[in-house]
Amino acid sequence: LFITLEGGDGTGKSTQAQLLTDWLEGEGRTVVRSREPGGTEVGVEIREIVLHHRGEIAPRAEALLYAADRAQHVATKLRPALARSEVIVQDRYLDSSVAYQGAGRVLGAQEVRDLSLWAAEGLLPDLTILLDLDEADARGRLDAANKRFDRLEAEKNEFHARVRAAFLGLAEAEPERFLVLDASASVDAIAAQIRARVAALL
Ligand code: C5P
Repeated sequence: LFITLEGGDGTGKSTQAQLLTDWLEGEGRTVVRSREPGGTEVGVEIREIVLHHRGEIAPRAEALLYAADRAQHVATKLRPALARSEVIVQDRYLDSSVAYQGAGRVLGAQEVRDLSLWAAEGLLPDLTILLDLDEADARGRLDAANKRFDRLEAEKNEFHARVRAAFLGLAEAEPERFLVLDASASVDAIAAQIRARVAALL
């Protein structure tokens, strides 16, 4: 079972991924908790490059770096885990590429999706949880937590609004794969909704 969490920065993906992992482990499942970019040793170095040189990397080069990270991740970590019937709980996957590198930036969503699918050997998640949050709320949360605020500050509101709209568009196009949740709800309420959906898939 392959579950991804998507959404902008500060929407609570990591918190929910950890709560879901803990619950699944309590249910006796072996869970691979991963993320992109940076889910492998090679990927950690690619993550350094894309985040360190943000804004300097040509859009196609950036899309290829994320695709390279994904290709390594799928081939060396995700496919083997699925072959062992483990559950993968992952922060970000190809929907982030489509939202950020595609609709968010210069490249077209379709070409980024095609590139991502090629890199991923066609592997799509069984379930994608989209934590949807208004930009102003996301900003407030990161500020309150005094965490990664500068990163969010560095990018424009308008960019985040485009990314959010792109995620919602992806969810609308594949309603059977996506569970869209209002990320302004309480952590416990969101976790309960996620558990209910995942329980039905186990
Ligand atoms: O969620 P995480 O902190 O790992 O993401 C790191 C940064 O990389 C985020 O700020 C996100 O905006 C960006 N990102 C991106 N394109 C992706 C994945 C992440 O621009 N495909």
